[in-house]
Amino acid sequence: MTAPKGTFDTLPPDSARFLAVRDTLTAPLRRAGYGYVETPVFEDTAVFSRGVGESTDVVSKEMYTFSDRGGRSLTLRPELTAGLMRAFIEHRLHDGALPVKLWSVGSAFRYERPQAGRYRHFTQVDMEALGTDDPALDAEVVALGVQGFRDLGLTDFELQLTSLGDSTCRPQYRELLVAYLDKLDLDEETRRRAAINPLRVLDDKRSEVQAQLGDAPLMVDHLSDSTKAHYDAVRQHLTDLGVTWVEAPRLVRGLDYYTKTTFEFVHNGLGAQSAIGGGGRYDGLSAALGGPDVSGIGYAVGVDRTMLAVQAEGLDIGVSAGVQAFVVPLGAEAKRLAVKLVGQLRQAGVAADTVYGDRGLKGSMKAADRSGASHIVVIGDRDLAQGVGQLKDMSTGDQVAVPVGELFERLRESVGA
Ligand code: AMP
Repeated sequence: MTAPKGTFDTLPPDSARFLAVRDTLTAPLRRAGYGYVETPVFEDTAVFSRGVGESTDVVSKEMYTFSDRGGRSLTLRPELTAGLMRAFIEHRLHDGALPVKLWSVGSAFRYERPQAGRYRHFTQVDMEALGTDDPALDAEVVALGVQGFRDLGLTDFELQLTSLGDSTCRPQYRELLVAYLDKLDLDEETRRRAAINPLRVLDDKRSEVQAQLGDAPLMVDHLSDSTKAHYDAVRQHLTDLGVTWVEAPRLVRGLDYYTKTTFEFVHNGLGAQSAIGGGGRYDGLSAALGGPDVSGIGYAVGVDRTMLAVQAEGLDIGVSAGVQAFVVPLGAEAKRLAVKLVGQLRQAGVAADTVYGDRGLKGSMKAADRSGASHIVVIGDRDLAQGVGQLKDMSTGDQVAVPVGELFERLRESVGA
């Protein structure tokens, strides 16, 4: 049996890298006062059809939807925002102090065509700042995303930024764009897409489409006074925070609920699937899910794609250091001592290990070597008869006989714990 198509297992030693990347991406959120939230991996299907939008590819083509034994329609989450928003509304977090700042991390599922960087099961870090429409908050959110990538040591990425307007200006702009697209030579499929969401045609990667879009009207040129002032303030704060960006007036995100500030983090070493994260403001999402009319902004970062970016830049992150101490028993009596010693070391906070099964001297020494331990204790029968074990410093090769009763303390001191 193999893992289902489009999924993969993360095994040691790569899994250490995965954990390090995941934790580095979330550390800036924890430092900025965001609280951790865990929601179910599946939700009522309506959470996504209403929260992500019926017209999106994610909802129309990519969801893992099933009926449970009680006949409910459930869906494995294709992203984390809609579920977080559902929880925010259900638990009336909007009644407390605003903004409510939340983060989560976990599995997401989309039935997509698998390729490098695009999987059917992947992991997202997600954050949301809900209930306050303050441009300084938009800047905070964007800057925290940038911080996570910087903390990983990534440099070959850029922040693409734009404003998608809001209900005061997007409908008028949409009409302009529809009129413009009507005059172009587009195939049926693209026309159908344009009828549902004309903005998405701007993001079409095909050169024959792009060639016709040279002077298409752009949202940023048609912002209302208030959304323009909002966008200007966001950019001012970003400058103050030392964040640089590229204006991306044709940026359209795959999900329907975005308004105003919209952004994507793009890495240059990843080929076609270059987006390592993205997000924006979604002032209509809460209302779409039956909640109060509160604003929100947030982003999702793909942990798997960030891992690929880390590899592409050759960064040494989360390479497992192994254990600090390793005990090699040779003989039954030594075995009891080794198991006990390792237990004591672990209780004292020292990363320690020993050999299991009958590995013999050669196999045991190989295991000790591979463990990465800086200090090893070898306990043979002859040593035991004399009441000692041999403590070896792997960096110098020095070996000393240490009385059995002192092994624990000596090991603990040697590894600096
Ligand atoms: P989205 O929710 O589509 O805006 O995606 C946010 C981020 O999640 C993207 O920038 C990717 O890094 C990651 N992502 C989205 N879909 C996939 C996928 N199928 N496989 C791996 N990563 C993904």
